[in-house]
Amino acid sequence: MDKILVTRPSMPSYDEYVEAIKPLWDSQWLTNMGIYHEKLEVELKQYLKVSNLSLVVNGHTALELAIKAFDFPNGSEVITTPFTFISTTHAIVRNGLKPVFCDVKECDGTINEDKIEELITDQTVAIVPVHVYGNVCNVKKIQKIAKKYGLKVIYDAAHAFGVEYEGEGIGNYGDASVFSFHSTKVFNTIEGGAIIFKDDVLCKKIRKLRNFGIQDEEVVSELGINAKMNEFCAIMGLCNLKHINEMLIRRRAIGEYYKEKLRTVKGIRYLEIGMADSSNFAYFPVVLTEDAKISRDMLYERLCENEIYVRKYFYPLTSEQICYKGKYNTNDISCAKKLSVSVLTLPMYERITEEEVDKVICTVKKYLD
Ligand SMILES: *Cc1c(COP(=O)(O)O)cnc(C)c1O
Repeated sequence: MDKILVTRPSMPSYDEYVEAIKPLWDSQWLTNMGIYHEKLEVELKQYLKVSNLSLVVNGHTALELAIKAFDFPNGSEVITTPFTFISTTHAIVRNGLKPVFCDVKECDGTINEDKIEELITDQTVAIVPVHVYGNVCNVKKIQKIAKKYGLKVIYDAAHAFGVEYEGEGIGNYGDASVFSFHSTKVFNTIEGGAIIFKDDVLCKKIRKLRNFGIQDEEVVSELGINAKMNEFCAIMGLCNLKHINEMLIRRRAIGEYYKEKLRTVKGIRYLEIGMADSSNFAYFPVVLTEDAKISRDMLYERLCENEIYVRKYFYPLTSEQICYKGKYNTNDISCAKKLSVSVLTLPMYERITEEEVDKVICTVKKYLD
């Protein structure tokens, strides 16, 4: 058996992809909003049940540009979570804004909506929550707070592809939502991302921002960058989107199998899925509880020794990374800290075999039971 990685990308068959990219040799249109780019935007809008969607080159750029589109005054404060991938915090700081770290809930890892208000100052302009692992934040309460204080809400929905709340696409919540289509995510375009805005004006603006701010042949109206998705990536997306339902069903089956088999193991708990109608099983996080026989780090080591490469997502917290440590606020983020030292994400991808899942389960049991 090969080593078991935490994830592997979903891919169409070689023949399917090669067949699909053939027309590019005739058209010689490789990037700059080609027909496949256009087609993927249309299909994703339908699939994600959103009214507008702009593709960009990756999820990080999606988040950075989504924040930029609001033109917040330099140095303004943005309330966010430290229990996330570093990209979330970078996107705020790279926009000249100040991250204010809010604690998360132990039950699902999303931002603790009851602790947001106490962090709001006259400098606060926005909230950037994360639907971490596809677990949905309390979008209703966050919306209420935002409305009360006149703040913008920009969701990092990088993990939440295909997730819905009360039958609505999750991308519809907040003033903006961004997805990542990186190879390690549920749906991939090799590298890629998308932004959804509530406001059509901002949607038009982002289409300029992703293309150097160009309005037409002679007019540049925004300080933009090059964030265009090329046709090879768009075609990878179109191929993967054809199979997305099977991929999600397979992920669910693996997730349910893990849960069933690990049910009796003492010392682990699962996260809840927040406000999500159901999980997309983007990840399979387990949290070690106080009665676990060994520590998270020890379990991590033992699994690696057995060639099972699990990950400590998300450890360290972004606020603890060298580039941010001690620089920003010292709010109480004790739940985030606790979660970060006790969580482990187990291997989860559509093509993992039953044999491999069994090996993971056996190994986890061996050390915890
Ligand atoms: C993956 C990810 C991103 C960045 O997306 P890329 O497509 O890799 O640039 C941002 N936020 C979170 C929470 C992510 O997991």
